[in-house]
Order: sequence, then structure tokens, then C-alpha cells
Amino acid sequence: MDLKKYVTVVENWPKEGISFKDITTIMDNGPAYKYATDQIVDYAKKMGAELIVGPEARGFITGCPVAYALEIGFAPVRKPGKLPREVISQEYDLEYGTNTLTMHSDAVKPGQKVLIVDDLLATGGTVEASIKLIEQLGGEVVGCAFLIELTELKGREKIAGYDIFSLMEY
Ligand code: IMP
Repeated sequence: MDLKKYVTVVENWPKEGISFKDITTIMDNGPAYKYATDQIVDYAKKMGAELIVGPEARGFITGCPVAYALEIGFAPVRKPGKLPREVISQEYDLEYGTNTLTMHSDAVKPGQKVLIVDDLLATGGTVEASIKLIEQLGGEVVGCAFLIELTELKGREKIAGYDIFSLMEY
């Protein structure tokens, strides 16, 4: 299936000069959503994933159906103040300023094989912070899967050494 047919490219959103890749038009199409999910499920099986971790919010949309299909757990990575119990935090740099991501302290078991799933790899800041959170909890990141990789932003280089799977490149 040519999944790119289902991605809507929105120019100059959320600000001038950004070419936003809208994946909601994959999700609202049953066969396209299933196809995309199935590709990541196959990758997750190959890598021996025991837990899926997804950053809010599109990492939930892409990661949860993978966890469901494999009958394994899903753990969310969230912005500060969203998770109700004890958390660990990781800060990362944005173009202007910083961002912080959190996970529940007991979300990953020591030695657990974890696959990170998100909709899109851009600069790699989000996935790098997620890797640090998982490793701080003793998890082993066996791979990172994305629907879309923006190759010019070289996110891949930021997480060199980790296995990366992406379904589409722009
Ligand atoms: P990074 O941290 O720079 O790699 O950015 C990746 C994060 O930003 C992901 O969680 C994406 O959901 C979000 N993101 C950045 N650009 C886009 C886009 O064009 N479409 C959808 N999500 C995006």
C-alpha cells in the first residue's frame, strides 16, 4: 500500500515555513491504519519487543494498536503534570528553549525490551529523551518505529546506535 497517499501535507502550519505532515488521514481510513500498524507490529516482533512506549499524543495513536495486537503493555511518555504517580523527568532542547517529558517510575521493568513508537521522527529530541527515560528505569531500547521520518532534520544521527524503522521518508 502507498501510505503517502493518506498523509495530508499542510503547508505553513503551525507556523510559516513548516510543512506539517498530518497523519489523521491515515487513522481515519481503516485499511490504511491497519496496514501502518501491521508493519510496525512485524518490526516489533522481529526486535522482540516486550513493551511499547509512546510519547503523547500521536505516539498513543500509533503505539497503542501495536501493543494491543501483540498483547503486550503500553507505557505513555507525557508532559509534566499529567501522570498521577511518582515520575522521572528528562529535559531536552528545542529550537527555542527546552521541553520536559516524564514517565511513571515503575512503567518499565529492569531488563525489559522496549520499542518506542511515534508518528514522526524530526530532530530526534523527543525520541532521545524517551530513550533516556527508559534506560534510567533499566529498560533496553530494542528499536524506534515511526510512520514518517523527516530525513533532512537528521534525527537518525541523534540516536545513532539504536535501530530505527520508518514507513515513509520526506
Ligand atoms: P522531534 O522531537 O524534533 O523529533 O519531533 C518529533 C515530535 O514532534 C513527534 O512527537 C511528532 O509528533 C511531532 N512532530 C513534529 N513535526 C511533525 C509533523 O510534521 N507532523 C506530525 N507530528 C510532528
